[in-house]
Amino acid sequence: MQLPESFIKQMQIRLGDQLPEFLAALDSPAPISLHYNPLKISKPEISDGVKWYSNGVYLKERPVFTLDPLFHAGQYYVQEASSMFLAEAVRQTVDLSTPLRVLDLAAAPGGKSTLLASLTHPESFVLCNEVIKSRYRILDYNLSKWGMPNTHISNHDSKDFKSLEGFFDLILLDAPCSGEGLFRKDPGAVDHWDNEHVKFCSLRQRRILDNTVNLLRPGGTLIYSTCTYNSPENENNAQWLQETFPLEKIQLDISPDWDIEQRAIGYQFYPHKVKGEGFYLASFKKTSGREGKIKTGNAAKKFDLSAREKTIVAPWIKNPENLIFLQNKSGQIRALLKSHLDIHLQVAKSLSRYEPGTFIGTLKRDNFIPSPQLALSLLVSDEISQISLTLEQSLRYLKKEDPVLENIPEGWAMVTYEGLALGWLKGLKNRVNNYYPKEWRIRMKID
Ligand code: SAM
Repeated sequence: MQLPESFIKQMQIRLGDQLPEFLAALDSPAPISLHYNPLKISKPEISDGVKWYSNGVYLKERPVFTLDPLFHAGQYYVQEASSMFLAEAVRQTVDLSTPLRVLDLAAAPGGKSTLLASLTHPESFVLCNEVIKSRYRILDYNLSKWGMPNTHISNHDSKDFKSLEGFFDLILLDAPCSGEGLFRKDPGAVDHWDNEHVKFCSLRQRRILDNTVNLLRPGGTLIYSTCTYNSPENENNAQWLQETFPLEKIQLDISPDWDIEQRAIGYQFYPHKVKGEGFYLASFKKTSGREGKIKTGNAAKKFDLSAREKTIVAPWIKNPENLIFLQNKSGQIRALLKSHLDIHLQVAKSLSRYEPGTFIGTLKRDNFIPSPQLALSLLVSDEISQISLTLEQSLRYLKKEDPVLENIPEGWAMVTYEGLALGWLKGLKNRVNNYYPKEWRIRMKID
């Protein structure tokens, strides 16, 4: 790999006689890893596990994920292993036994959001934000596949969150960075790298952090991470955070055989030491500040569907009594955990591009059209009629071919592969319609 001279010089200063090993690692194949969705697989077989996350696993070689229906069903998320250290940092810094208000400020494509949602208490309000519109849609798709009803998404710059002062218990800023740690996986990142870009990234990170700290309640946890090595984006920013705001670094308990390097503040991963890419993470506790107050006691009835509309929607949903169904003018319905109503109303007042909970479908007169997201969601009722597909049928379904099956009974049916839902089919008098969304379909040749 052709690396910029000044990058090599900086790494020489940082790593000393480990430099040749580091450079050799960049020329070797990147390990392949993923983390499982604990709600879509109960006991995954893990022969080569990621040391710092029990649902993380290395694969011997890279399969064609696109051709695995379980990938489309959200059974796992493909993520490089060092990043999964977030799980350990969260485990050590927050109380996972109680519902939290969580903000993942730079969330797309969603690798760390899926981790956060799986780790924290299932009633936690997990708000996943992405400022870039096209990436926001990808985030939405990945969270839909993950299927957890406690995640919410927004499409804002960090400055737009101002009125949510003291609101969150846990904030992750997985910052946009110069990406030195991804040179092996994404050699294109090398072309954008120079010292000016590092400086630019470091200042941008400070701007975002400056908008972020205020959103944390006193006693709350801030986790700052990058996928780069240089000090201006990592330790220097961590140091600046501690000097500028009421934040205190949190020391994590790290097993020595993990081979993670402890810096003055934070933890650094190198590809010649760990089975993963370059990654940096630091965590802080907020020591003082204003606690955001939430107006409680909003009446669910005011926002929910009418009793008649509910009787149409409820048969599609598991435990509908725990949910509120928010309907927009086009009849589209999003399901929200009842316990999230007060928090949701406060967030909705502050952010205009915000979508709460799960889009479950559209009510047109007395007709409910289930959404693809509902099939992937843990909210879907177990009573819905299901059709189990073979591998080949599943791939044809995911390519949106018509018909995948013939002679299916009239009405809606949820198609599954190895017990996990992929989406909807509808049997009509003399044909079957495939309701997999066009924008999600597999474009690859399957034979
Ligand atoms: N957390 C993600 C994950 O684990 O899948 C990866 C996040 S990536 C390192 C950083 C994200 O920050 C990108 O999605 C990028 O679009 C977003 N971003 C870019 N500029 C930003 C800004 N000014 N404020 C907040 N986020 C920004």
